[in-house]
Amino acid sequence: MSKQISRGFYTRAVDTLALELYRCNTGASRTESMKQLHGPSRALYRKFARRALNCSRDGFIEAKCVSCGCTDSRACDDGCSWIVVNRLLGQGICSSCAGRL
Ligand SMILES: [Zn+2]
Ligand SMILES: [Zn+2]
Repeated sequence: MSKQISRGFYTRAVDTLALELYRCNTGASRTESMKQLHGPSRALYRKFARRALNCSRDGFIEAKCVSCGCTDSRACDDGCSWIVVNRLLGQGICSSCAGRL
């Protein structure tokens, strides 16, 4: 399985989440957060966001099959692809499991 997400998509997702995290933490408005979120705190919040999104630094979001536990990097023995995948949760159902259901 190779389902690479484009770098631009990944960066946007991380930035959006970092902003939301900052807003939740500080109670600042969206505009205020955008102004405040730079420098060291931006890097920190982006780190939290990456962790929450289950992404690695290179932009690959690893998802796991909720039924058999196969992942993007470790597909089922006879090969499989995603039937349903939620990249934000990092969960999906692969073709081998969908066939068994
Ligand atoms: Zn599966
Ligand atoms: Zn599978």
